[in-house]
Amino acid sequence: MAKSFYDILGVKKDASQDEIKSAYRKLARQYHPDLHPGDEAAANKFKEISEAYETLSDPEKRAAYDNPSPFGDFGSGGSGFESGFSGFGGFGGGGGSIFDSIFDMFGGGGRSGRSAENIGDDITVNVTLTFEEAAFGAQKEVTITRKEPCPSCNGTGAKDGTKFKTCGTCGGSGRVKQAQETPFGRVVSERVCPSCRGTGKIIEETCPDCAGRGMLRKNVKLKVNIPAGVETGQVMTVRGEGEKVANGRAGNLQLIINVLPHKIFKRTGADLYVDLPVTFIQAALGEKVKVPTLKGTELQFALTEGVKSGSVLKLKGHGITTKRGTGDMYVTVTVDLPKKLTKDQKAKIKALEADIKPEQFEKVRDFNKNAF
Ligand SMILES: [Zn+2]
Ligand SMILES: [Zn+2]
Repeated sequence: MAKSFYDILGVKKDASQDEIKSAYRKLARQYHPDLHPGDEAAANKFKEISEAYETLSDPEKRAAYDNPSPFGDFGSGGSGFESGFSGFGGFGGGGGSIFDSIFDMFGGGGRSGRSAENIGDDITVNVTLTFEEAAFGAQKEVTITRKEPCPSCNGTGAKDGTKFKTCGTCGGSGRVKQAQETPFGRVVSERVCPSCRGTGKIIEETCPDCAGRGMLRKNVKLKVNIPAGVETGQVMTVRGEGEKVANGRAGNLQLIINVLPHKIFKRTGADLYVDLPVTFIQAALGEKVKVPTLKGTELQFALTEGVKSGSVLKLKGHGITTKRGTGDMYVTVTVDLPKKLTKDQKAKIKALEADIKPEQFEKVRDFNKNAF
């Protein structure tokens, strides 16, 4: 004998809606097909759970299941257990509630409402920022083309939003029922009415502004606030600024960030990196040098006497400031040597060389000690 829907969900016959919902969520999470790819038993179990929930979560369907009418819900054929079956809306037939629950459960972007057809698509645009804009944050204007409900007809497609009549196919409900004989008995499923596409209404006179489509494509300029510290490849979501829909929630606008390189700086997170060439004289004497900041000011500091090429100096707190804090600036020193020396200059360096003791050149001294 087939298990009852109550047995399938493991709840008592007098279980509350909350108990049913919580039992369903627990089981659905356990048997969700995404977690068991290719596992037919799990898929069947999941289907069974979903069918049970579909009926028991709807007070009307549950009552019909608990007290089957001798004739079934839809006239002929159904009796007893089968009438409970004929009461459910057809698994996979677009019944919103099962899928909505799964969306909530798996964090599918918080979709709500009857089904996905009421949510506008996302729009994706590239946003190019200068290095400074990315570092400090910026307000940017983006131009997008999106669908919006036609204002003349309020998105209905009918002239003035009023020239309708009730759909004859579905009698205005927007849904049509379809009966099918299966080995389990008669199964009635419900789907969106093909004549009125679920609106329950037929247009008598079309709106001239949108030719009855209800939607218009519009160029829209939007100001978006880019926070400080964004990086190339990052995607920012602006909720509700994607494609609009007549009855439902607009999609999101997705901004794909592209940051242009800087002539001097590089960036990782909030830290800035700069290569600083200094003359061999500045390096040898430990002279004061300066680096620019992104804001256009200068930072002055003294080199360590005899600083080596490739040394990295950290200037704390001179990175950029983001929500997560302020970074540092890392300065890599490169010692630059003069080229095209004149005879006179060469003679002066030679004289200097004679004056400097070989051990004053630390690296040369260490190398010679190890190599020879
Ligand atoms: Zn219809
Ligand atoms: Zn219109």
